[in-house]
Amino acid sequence: MASIQILDKSFVPYISKEKIQLRIEEIANDINQKFEGKKPIFLAILNGSFMFVSDLFKEITIESEISFVKLISYEGTSSTGTVKKALGLETDLHDRHVIIVEDIVDTGNTMASFIPDLEKSGAATITLVTLLHKPDATVKDVKIDYCGFSIPDKFVVGYGLDYDQLGRNLPEIYQLVD
Ligand code: 5GP
Repeated sequence: MASIQILDKSFVPYISKEKIQLRIEEIANDINQKFEGKKPIFLAILNGSFMFVSDLFKEITIESEISFVKLISYEGTSSTGTVKKALGLETDLHDRHVIIVEDIVDTGNTMASFIPDLEKSGAATITLVTLLHKPDATVKDVKIDYCGFSIPDKFVVGYGLDYDQLGRNLPEIYQLVD
C-alpha cells in the first residue's frame, strides 16, 4: 500500500472513497425515509465535516436545509470546564428537526458539550451523524444515531480531516503509521 507523508508523519490508505460513498448512500437512504415531510436542518460542524456533508447532502432527496457552524473552545466556569461555543448559528431551531453532521467522535467531549447547548434552542429532535467513531477513545456518553465507520483509536487524516491543517484535501481516509 502506498503510504504518504504529511510533515513528520506517515499514513497508509485506510478507507477508500468508494467505501465512503457506499456508506454515505446507506445513511442518506435511512435519513430520507425517517425525515420525509419533516424538513430537517443539517448542521455541519466545521471544519472537518465539510467534505462528508457535501457528499451526504447530495444524496438527500427530501426537502431539507443546511447550515454550518464552527465550534470554538472557551473556558467555562470551574464546574463546566472547557465548553464549546457555536459560531455562525443564526437559524431559529425552535421546533426544527436538527441533524448534526460531525467528522469524528473521539473522546466525545465536543458533542457532549455542544448537544446540551443545542437542546436549549427548542429543537424538536436532535440527531447525530458522524462519519467516524473511535469507541475505545470515547469517554463521554454521546448518543450517535448514524455512524459511518467505527475505527480503532488511531489518528486518521483525509476526506476533510487534518493533521496540523494539512491533508484535508485527500479524497480518502488515511491512518497513521506508528
Ligand atoms: P472529541 O471532542 O470527540 O474528542 O473530538 C472531536 C474532534 O477532534 C473532531 O471533530 C476532530 O476535529 C478531532 N479529532 C479527533 N480524532 C481525530 C483524528 O483521528 N484525526 C483528526 N484529523 N482529527 C481528530
